[in-house]
Amino acid sequence: MKVLKFGGTSVGTAKSIKKVKDIIANEAKSDRVIVVVSAMTQVTNKLLAASELAANGDESYKEITKEIENKHFEAIRELVVIDQQSGVIANIKVLLNQLEDILNGVYLVRELSPKTSDYIVSFGESLSSIILSKSIGAELVDSKSLISTNTEHGGATVLYDRTYKKIHEFFESSNSNVFVAPGFVASTEEGVTSTLGRGGSDFSAALYAAGSNAAELQIWTDVSGMYTADPRKVKSAFPVKFASYKEAMELSHFGAKVIYPPTILPVYKKGIPLKIKNTFAPDDQGTLITASADEGMPIKGISSIDKIALASLSGSGMIGIPGISARLFGALSRAKVNVILITQASSEHSISFAISPEDITIAVDAVQEEFAFEIQTGKINSPRVETGLSVIALVGEKMSGQVNVSGKMFNTLGSNGVNMRAIAQGSSERNISAVIEEK
Ligand code: ASP
Ligand code: MG
Repeated sequence: MKVLKFGGTSVGTAKSIKKVKDIIANEAKSDRVIVVVSAMTQVTNKLLAASELAANGDESYKEITKEIENKHFEAIRELVVIDQQSGVIANIKVLLNQLEDILNGVYLVRELSPKTSDYIVSFGESLSSIILSKSIGAELVDSKSLISTNTEHGGATVLYDRTYKKIHEFFESSNSNVFVAPGFVASTEEGVTSTLGRGGSDFSAALYAAGSNAAELQIWTDVSGMYTADPRKVKSAFPVKFASYKEAMELSHFGAKVIYPPTILPVYKKGIPLKIKNTFAPDDQGTLITASADEGMPIKGISSIDKIALASLSGSGMIGIPGISARLFGALSRAKVNVILITQASSEHSISFAISPEDITIAVDAVQEEFAFEIQTGKINSPRVETGLSVIALVGEKMSGQVNVSGKMFNTLGSNGVNMRAIAQGSSERNISAVIEEK
C-alpha cells in the first residue's frame, strides 16, 4: 500500500486535478493506493468566513456558499464523465443543502460553537473527496468512521490505537485498488464530527500510512520539497533531497510550511519513508525523509517564524528557588499558550520565552495570577513582553558535535548588524535558534 496526499492547490482547479489523476494512475500500476485529499483551494477559509458571517447575523454568508457551489459544479463538469455527472451533482447537492441548513441555523441563533464549526468546515473535504473519487473511479473512504479523536473540537487529539485498528481492518477487508479519503476530518467516539486542526490533511495521510503499514507516504504539494530556507524570503534557498525524520520535524515547525508538523511522528514511529513531491513538477526529485538521511551537510536548513513576542519573567526571588519554571510553564500550559522557545541563563535571574503575539494577553494574565504573591511582595517583577521579533533557526542532524556552527551563525548575524535578543540550543544540538528583530 502507498498513501498519496494532495493539498488544496493540487485540487484547486480542474486542470490541476488532471495532473493529480496522472500521478495516481502511475502509482497505482505497482501498488494499492490510498489518496488523501484536502478541500479545494480556499474552500476551508471560505467555510470559516461563512460561519463567522452567519454567526454575526450577516446574510452575505449565502454568497460564499454560492461560490463554493459553483467551484465544485465546475470541477464536476470538467472531471467527471458526462453520463455520471448528474449523479455526482445530485450527491454534492445533498451535501450543499445540509451545509446551507446548518449555516442558516447558525444565522438564526447567532451562535457558533467549536463543535458546529468543525461540522461546517468538514464539508470542504467531503466535497473534494467525492468529486475526486468519482473522477478516477476509486472507492470513497469514510474518514469520519475510521479516524477517532477526543472531543477537543477545532483541533482534536487522535485516539491512535482505535484509529489504527479500524484503518487496518477496513483496508484488509476491501478488494479495491485505489481509494480516496477526505483528509482533516474525523469523529469522536460518540460519532460527532471533529477535525485535526488547520492543515490537518497531511496528518490524516500519515495516520492512513501508519494504520495500513504502507510502504511509503507521499505528500504532493506545490513546491519541490522541503527547502533549506523559506523560498519566499531567501532567494538562494534550494530543496533538501534527503532529511531525517528529526530534521524534518525541526524544519516543519518553522518557516516554509511544507508539511503540518504532527504528520511526521506516525510515520517516524513505523519507519515509513515520507516523500514531499510537487504536483506541478512531478519529475523534480523532492525530499525523501527517512531515519537516516545523510547528505554530508551539517546544516540542513534555516527556518524562521515571522512574528513572535518575547516574554520574560525576572526577579531576585527566582534565584536558587526550585519550581519557578515548573510553575511558569504549568500556568502557561493551563492557559493553553504554546511556548515556541525558552531560555534561562545560569544566573537564574530571568527566564525568557517566545510566544505567538495573539497569546500575549492570556499569557501575561496567567503568569500574573500564578505569581501574584511574589509580584506583590516584589520578589518577582511583572512579566515583560516585547513584540516585533522573529525567530531564525539553523537545523541539522549533523550539527551535533560540530565545533563553531554557532560561532559562524552569530558572526554572520553580528557582522550584518543583526542584534540577537535571545538564543536557544537544545542539548540535541539539532537546532540553534536566535530571536532577532523582525525586519
Ligand atoms: N482543509 C484543511 C485546511 O485548509 C486541511 C488541509 O488542507 O490540510 O486547513
Ligand atoms: Mg494544506
